[in-house]
Amino acid sequence: MYSNSQFYINGQWQNALNGATLPVINPATEEEIGTLPKADSADLDLAVEAADKGFATWKKTSAYDRSRIMRKAAQLLRDRADHIAPIMTMEQGKPVGEARMEALACADVIDWFAEESRRTYGRIIPGRADRIRQLVIREPVGIVAAFSPWNFPINQSVRKISAALAAGCSIIVKGPEETPRSCAMLVECFADAGVPAGVVNLVFGVPAQISEYLITHPKIAKISFTGSTAVGKQLAALAGLHMKRATMELGGHAPVIICDDADIPRAAQIMAASKFRNAGQVCVSPTRFLVQDKVFSQFRDLFIDHGKAIKVGNGLEDGVTMGPLAHARRMDAMNDLVADARQSGADVALGGNRKGNKGYFFEPTIMTNVPKSARIMNEEPFGPIAILNPFTKIDEAITEANRLPYGLAAYAFTSSEKTATTLSDQVEAGMLTINHLGLALPEVPFGGIKDSGYGTEGGADALEPYLISKYVTHMSV
Ligand code: NAD
Repeated sequence: MYSNSQFYINGQWQNALNGATLPVINPATEEEIGTLPKADSADLDLAVEAADKGFATWKKTSAYDRSRIMRKAAQLLRDRADHIAPIMTMEQGKPVGEARMEALACADVIDWFAEESRRTYGRIIPGRADRIRQLVIREPVGIVAAFSPWNFPINQSVRKISAALAAGCSIIVKGPEETPRSCAMLVECFADAGVPAGVVNLVFGVPAQISEYLITHPKIAKISFTGSTAVGKQLAALAGLHMKRATMELGGHAPVIICDDADIPRAAQIMAASKFRNAGQVCVSPTRFLVQDKVFSQFRDLFIDHGKAIKVGNGLEDGVTMGPLAHARRMDAMNDLVADARQSGADVALGGNRKGNKGYFFEPTIMTNVPKSARIMNEEPFGPIAILNPFTKIDEAITEANRLPYGLAAYAFTSSEKTATTLSDQVEAGMLTINHLGLALPEVPFGGIKDSGYGTEGGADALEPYLISKYVTHMSV
């Protein structure tokens, strides 16, 4: 059922010119389940040439037609969700139900950008003299190079592809090498919907080689990257050096402020589901729980109960609610972070260990009383680990929430309107969700501040970086 992946270049599925491949590993079994091609500069030359041709075609395609083709791709993705889901589980690990939900949610993303593509309005600025027309025309910026990771193999790519296509750009996606097939199946939906050859291209390989080649290439106008802050800073620097626009969706270390006036059972239930979704490999995953003294033990005990109820296993099996980590590097990272926290004096209230000895399974882990000096209080865990620490006054919680250089997502639970307003004003984050989970809808902004990056991948603003505003002034003679 799992087939090998290929590049998609100039409307053709193809292997690397030199035949080089990389293996795909099932993280639940550690077995090789397939291969993907590994690009060198000759393959990338072809991709850029194709994207150049694709851009010439697509920028002249009317917004109406772009929108129509994109909607068709969205429908194909919906129709194929049941087929894509187990393949995503085999290569990424998440439970098959979550994989199916991801595919369906991505169809909504395509639809939303398809609608926005018909609203890329320009404007007319009143002239200072008779017979002067001053126009602002929105045009696509050019060829986009996108770098998308493995945690949401479809969702991370779909936001970049959809925004580019909506604006009239062509795109080269460097897909996730760990999870290539589900990303390729997304591209297949665009291809089968009638996106012309060269408009969407997909390559894989050694990430640093591909980004170095594409970001510095004179034909590439814009880049979009999702991944770690460390890599994002390098790519943003390279983009700056070459005067390329960039959207950077980077790491986070989301604070969760639980006030003593909140509905604690509800907060524990919502946050446990959110923390352990995708084994915590989510950039907006809740991580630093700051719980007010009076309700600390109540929240901790309920949260632990929810953590114990998580069924860890192969995502293809019935009833599994958390799959393995996506690759061996994350397993090593979890072991190191837990060992360091233990050494720093933290209490491990739940989990803390690898589960079994085959597959990258890690226990849902909850640590309490973790000192600020522990690495996990400062580094993004990107795994199924929650940290619970108490606070007394709301100002303390806000200071702790803002302490780190990250500023992606933040969460809060309170029944006080005054506290909610204070948090809205003072928490330094690109996204703050209070008393419910309201992040990542297609129509709302999705992005960070500070070291979590810049730009947004959701909402009307997401199209902006893919468009230029050309000013034309015309005196009729
Ligand atoms: P990693 O830094 O090796 O890779 C993360 C992603 O960046 C991968 O998709 C990889 O292909 C890409 N990448 C790495 N170096 C690159 C380069 N020079 N040019 C272009 N792309 C490059 O780390 P990893 O072990 O795969 O993942 C761990 C860390 O990555 C996590 O701690 C997390 O911070 C980050 N990450 C973030 C997201 C997100 O949604 N923001 C997703 C996946 C990984």
